[in-house]
Amino acid sequence: MTRSPLTLHLAAPRGFCAGVDRAIRIVELALEKWGAPIYVRHEIVHNRTVVDALRAKGAVFVEEVHEAPADRPIVFSAHGVARSVPEEAAARNMIQVDATCPLVTKVHIEAARHHAEGLQLVMIGHTGHPETVGTMGQLPPGEVLLVEDVADVARLEVRDPDRLAFVTQTTLSVDDTADIVAALQARFPAISGPAREDICYATTNRQMAVKAMAPSCDAILVVGAPNSSNSRRLVEVARKAGCPYAQLIQTAAEIDWRALEGVRSLGLTAGASAPEELVNEVIDACRLRHDVTVRPVVTAEENIEFKVPRILREPA
Ligand code: SF4
Repeated sequence: MTRSPLTLHLAAPRGFCAGVDRAIRIVELALEKWGAPIYVRHEIVHNRTVVDALRAKGAVFVEEVHEAPADRPIVFSAHGVARSVPEEAAARNMIQVDATCPLVTKVHIEAARHHAEGLQLVMIGHTGHPETVGTMGQLPPGEVLLVEDVADVARLEVRDPDRLAFVTQTTLSVDDTADIVAALQARFPAISGPAREDICYATTNRQMAVKAMAPSCDAILVVGAPNSSNSRRLVEVARKAGCPYAQLIQTAAEIDWRALEGVRSLGLTAGASAPEELVNEVIDACRLRHDVTVRPVVTAEENIEFKVPRILREPA
């Protein structure tokens, strides 16, 4: 049987970012240092394959600190946590290891600084996402107003329009966020904030690669979890950039081959929490059906690495 040709545009960068890589290393080092079980509050990163692999090594995932025994170490996920979380762990005398991505911590510090200067804070983010909950939880309840889109900006009721600042979630759509920031600045010209937004390098780079390949692709597959914000944004970016079909898949088994019938030019990328092995499985699945030519689409080089917390660099 002759297989039909398929050009596979492979986005670069894709997959693991420095924050995810560090968070996984933190759990592995904690297991080495203290042995199993190690408790992890929330999925360390939003990916089932990663979580299952760590669970097999002895990590136990819980949603709240009180679900873990006080005599075992607890790791906080890459998304960051509200101040009340480490406070609760400290009150129980637990060993705590913070796997919050340093780029999220930077936003926490910005939020606290604006609050200390007496500014009311507006956060651009997604309701209920753990990063948004963690960043808003850096300040007392009610001190942060959350906006998700331009329409929310029009509805904002603020204390003093001249005493405002904004921060953003790190994994948003770069283009949508630019529109929301512009709406904030138009309505509140005195608002303080970062030069553009707080979207991290990894989110920006992955979106840039998808934008570059979208016009030449009949379809794009994004490997990532449904609760991964940066992965979902990649699907949206692909569609907005002109690709007629974009699908989020957790594994190769979820590919909708019927929807891909007739596709000759397929784009492939992965969210920041998706391991490369899942990307390779998608490539293998394509090779079973097609005569595949892989064409890398490289729009940036990444060489960022974050140190693990000191407690894991010290001997037990
Ligand atoms: S996506 Fe960005 S903010 Fe989130 S963990 Fe990765 S580098 Fe950090």
